[in-house]
This record gives sequence, structure tokens and C-alpha cells, in this order.
Amino acid sequence: MVASSSLIPNDPSVLLTTAGMQQFKPYYTGVSDTQADFGSKNTVSIQKSFRTTDIDEVGDETHLTFFEMLGNFSFGGYQKEEAIKLAYEFITKEMNLLISYVTIFEGSAGVPKDLESKQIWESLGVEDIREEGMGDVFWGPTGSAGPCGPTTEIYCRNAQGKDVEIWNVVFNQFFYLGTREELLSGTSDKKLEPLPTFGVDTGMGLERLAMIAQTKTNIFETDLFAPLMAHGRIVADHVRASCFLIADGVRPDNKGAGYILRRLMRRVLSIINVEEFKMLIDVVVREYGDHYPELKSPIKEVVIKEAEQFGAVLEQGLKELKKFKTIDTVTAFNLFQSYGLPLDVIKDHVPGLDQKAFENEFRKHQDVSRAGIAGKFSGGLADHEPATIKLHTAHHLLLAVLQQVLGPQVKQRGSNINQERLRLDFSHPDKMTNEQKKKVEEIVNEMIKEDLQVIKREMDKVEAEKLGAEHEFGAKYGDKVSVYFIGGESNDAFSKEFCGGPHVEHTSELGHFKILKEESVAQGVRRIIAVLE
Ligand SMILES: [Zn+2]
Repeated sequence: MVASSSLIPNDPSVLLTTAGMQQFKPYYTGVSDTQADFGSKNTVSIQKSFRTTDIDEVGDETHLTFFEMLGNFSFGGYQKEEAIKLAYEFITKEMNLLISYVTIFEGSAGVPKDLESKQIWESLGVEDIREEGMGDVFWGPTGSAGPCGPTTEIYCRNAQGKDVEIWNVVFNQFFYLGTREELLSGTSDKKLEPLPTFGVDTGMGLERLAMIAQTKTNIFETDLFAPLMAHGRIVADHVRASCFLIADGVRPDNKGAGYILRRLMRRVLSIINVEEFKMLIDVVVREYGDHYPELKSPIKEVVIKEAEQFGAVLEQGLKELKKFKTIDTVTAFNLFQSYGLPLDVIKDHVPGLDQKAFENEFRKHQDVSRAGIAGKFSGGLADHEPATIKLHTAHHLLLAVLQQVLGPQVKQRGSNINQERLRLDFSHPDKMTNEQKKKVEEIVNEMIKEDLQVIKREMDKVEAEKLGAEHEFGAKYGDKVSVYFIGGESNDAFSKEFCGGPHVEHTSELGHFKILKEESVAQGVRRIIAVLE
């Protein structure tokens, strides 16, 4: 059993952790080895997860922002037969539930029908086996090529007699040499090959399972939420979610995950006061603190500070808002901008808003904040402070020097940069020797002394790839990319990387580079923490 990973993922291309398999990605791609890290080819987890796409739906029967995802995983361990048997046993014996029906992949576009799953379900006595297509029960590939495979889903009946999907079992069975679109089209002649390592990846929302098991009609009636329901569904969800975000280190901000947290907290603070908020935090810590000790961090302080900052504006904004029985788009948007009233708050307090017009107005704003998110996460930068920018340029130098000292096969696997230090994860099988670390420091400092120029160029992705510009494994880029060159502007530049910036203009601005730590993060992946003095 592997502990839940943080809600803040290692993968900088993702804002928050959304599923159990996220932390296991390097094991499916073969970068890391489960046997070495967990002593088994099979794992299970209860993963803290967060879906920002569902924020607007919170309050209905089944949508939440934060939820717990149960999952079992195999990386070349058990295959279809055992995975399905385990699922069947858990639902029917452990949970004592009736399966309404299951789905299997019907086969299409040159991908064979999942007859094996069908036969296994039949052998277990499940009678209603429905066959569905690519859109519903075939996962992946994501990106330009990758693993993919059929899924089989389990449906159970809720208290209203409606069938609800509660468990999705994904078989990472094939590797496709093209995109999902190409696979779906059925007209591409790109190849679908069996994966050398058969993978199983399953996900089942705990809240939904509880709803079925406790014969409730919605998730908020389950015992998971009962202690939190004093102020309604939205408050219950948002308080719980805020606690978990804060416990994992997210702080209210105007961009990225911090913006999500701010939105949740402000909505809560527009419905209940700080004292009530604090009491609900106590409930969350009491209910979840034993299993998630990180909740014992100072959560209330963060809420109090946000309430102090937001309280006065909110009060004034709400006063303004209450002047309106109905509200037009422009007024609503002005309230949103001048008082920082989140859209959710406005919608909560003034009915009859022309939702569509407002959303157009709102989307313009969101595009701006999304650009902020993209900027932040593409380079792993925490902010755009001068100290962070210097460390970012040092990060580029470091990667180039590592390739020089350890070999060109070294690739970036992750990065994180704040005002204090840089963190670079890279592929390399062995612990670095003291000589290697010293050598790397020396060359980076030489390059700083050489006062190399840092140049940004926009170019076609194809051209940048031809130049051999570095890009992070697994990251996605558009057709036009920006590339930062250090010391030259072409093939022979000392460093060239796909990157959104920002950077210093000359390396002499950086100061003295020092490695604080070199350690292992996973099989075949090393991490360097370094500073500028
Ligand atoms: Zn960069």
C-alpha cells in the first residue's frame, strides 16, 4: 500500500493531482521500477484528488472538488483475470453490493474486442455484460503516442434505482504509435502493439462508493459528510477541500492552485463567518487527521489571514450586491473586479444573472489567469521574483553541464524553482560522485564568469527540435515554441531549451553557484538542489 501523494503533483504540466495513477506514471513508462521502490509489482493507494473542472457542479448529487480515490495498480504483475476477480470480490463480498451490469470494449477501428474480459465476467456469473465503444471504454493514448487499452466498468444501483458507474478498471495493454484521434478514426495505418509490460490501473471514488453502500441518493448524505453539513453542501465541500490544499502547502494566490484555493475560501467566507469556518476545520482535522497527519499543520492561520484580507472588501461588495434584485452582466462583472467577489459568490447572492453573457465576460478574465497558470508551471517557477529568475537561468546552465559531465543521455524529469533554491530532477542511473559534483559546480561557475548572453527566439517546434533544444520528458508544446539560448544562438550554443522564461540577460548576474544536495527520487531519477550565493 503506497501512501497518497501530495495534491501538488511532481509533474509541472498538471495543476493538481486528479487521479491515483498520477504518482505512478514513471512506473508505467519504465522510468522507475516498482519492485525496487515498493518491493512488489502490485500496489494499492487511497489518493487525495482534486478536480477543478467540477467546481461549478458542486452541490448536485455527485460532484465534489476534493475526493478520495481508491485504486489498485499492477505494473507487469497481475493481469486481466486477477484484476477483474479482485474487483468482483471486493464489490460483491467485501462491500456486499449487487453489480447491476459491467461494460467491456466492443472492438472497433482495428482494435480487437475485449473478449478476455467478457469471458472472465461470464465465468464469475455476471449476466449483464454490455459492449461499448472507443469513446466510453477505451483509454488513451494521450499525446502523440503512448500506452492505451480497453477498460471495464462496474455499475451498481443507487437508492433511486439509477445505475451509477462506481469503478473503472483500465488495462494498459497496447502501445499505439499515433494519437487517440488517429486511433479513433480507424483509417490510420499506424501500428497498435502489445505493451511489453501489461499494466492495470483502477479508480473508484470513495464518496460514490459510500453513497451506494449506505443507500443514499447523494454523496452529501453519506457519513463522510454528515459531520460537515451544518451550512450546506457547498460549504461542506469547499471547507474540506481548502483544508487538504492548505495542508499540502497551497496558499491563497491570484494564480495557479493558489487561485483555486482562494476561490473556495472566499466563497465559504461569503456564506459563513470565520468562527464557523474554524469550527468546520476542527471537524475535518478530527475526521481525517489520523489518516492524513499533514492536516495537523496550521490551517486556521491561513484562513484567518485570508479572512482579514478579504473580510472588509467582501462586506462592502456584498452590501453593493444586495442593492440589486436582478443584475446585469456589466454591473456583476464590475463587482467581481472591484471587490474581488468570485463569480460563485455573485451567483449565490443574486439570482437572474444572464449567465452566458457573464461567462463570456468571465472567460476573458480566465484566459488571462490561465496564461498565468501556464507561465508558472511550464518552467516550474514559483514566481517571477529576481532571485527566482536568476535560479531559473542557473537551472538551464546546470542541465547543460550535467549532460557534459554525465553524458548526453541525461534528460530533465522535473523542476521546481523558488526564490531560495532550484530543484532539478534528471534521468541518471547512479549516485553522482564527489568529483562529478565538484566538476559540475566548477563548469557552471565558469559559464557564469564568461558572462554569456541569454537570448530568446520564437520558432517552429520542428525547427527547435532539429536544433536539439532540450524539452522536458512528457511535456506538451504547441507548433510555435520559444527557445532560450545561452552562449550562442544556434546549434553550438552552450545551452538551448524549450522554455517560456523569464531569464536574466547575462550569466554574470547570477553570482556563485553551489550544489546543496544530490539524491535519488526514484529508480533512475536523481535530484539536485542548488543555490546561488
Ligand atoms: Zn526554463
